[in-house]
Amino acid sequence: MSDKEYAIRQFALLKARIQKAAAKAKRNPNEITLVGAAKQQTAETVQSFIDAGLHDIGQNYLQEAIEVQQCLQPNQVNWHYIGQIQSNKTSSIANHFDWVHSIDRLKIARRLSAQRNADTPLNLLLQLDIDDEPSKGGVAMHAVADLVAQVSQLEHVSLCGFMVLPRARQDPTEQRQPFAKARELLALCNQKHGLHMQTLSMGMSADLEAAIMEGSTMVRIGTDLFGARSTPPTGDALNQAAT
Ligand SMILES: *Cc1c(COP(=O)(O)O)cnc(C)c1O
Repeated sequence: MSDKEYAIRQFALLKARIQKAAAKAKRNPNEITLVGAAKQQTAETVQSFIDAGLHDIGQNYLQEAIEVQQCLQPNQVNWHYIGQIQSNKTSSIANHFDWVHSIDRLKIARRLSAQRNADTPLNLLLQLDIDDEPSKGGVAMHAVADLVAQVSQLEHVSLCGFMVLPRARQDPTEQRQPFAKARELLALCNQKHGLHMQTLSMGMSADLEAAIMEGSTMVRIGTDLFGARSTPPTGDALNQAAT
């Protein structure tokens, strides 16, 4: 099978899976955006998936994202930054992406707003620390409502909703719990601050059905779209390769 045929098949499989999950949840599948989580994928692979119909690409690493973007024609797709953010990278992130899913501090949101040069606002999502796992990043749940109030005031960004990255759960019913919590908090923050945030970025390869049941509007899929990622070489292997 060629790369192009593979991309067409994988894209069709994922779309069918989203449609089936939406039907089960009695939702319109067009409300659910498929974001291809393209970490470690080459520009050629990403282009094959764009040709197959993918409109949204997610990237975790700025340098890797810029390298891929430079190989592709501009303005074909929406670019989503989904990785952790260092404050010295905000200027590039503000101007190489359409969406940032991983906002967890006011300082970062302020910098992105100040550094955005495009005519259109940068779309932001707050990443919630939904399972109290601070090492993954994300706003502590008790601090979310206040951060919503602050970020929603910024000028060159548009606060659209939340992103969650829950810990792995096997049981489909348990998988739904963190997603339900995110949905409820979004409604509460909208009500409290008079906002109309509508985006819930939740669901990956292993739990997209559970996320769609709980109202996900963006699923971020890596493995089940592009295929399994190769594990990066260990430090030892790198050292050996260098000698
Ligand atoms: C890698 C990644 C995904 C996709 O994960 P898969 O399990 O491969 O589908 C989604 N979101 C984030 C933030 C990621 O880093």
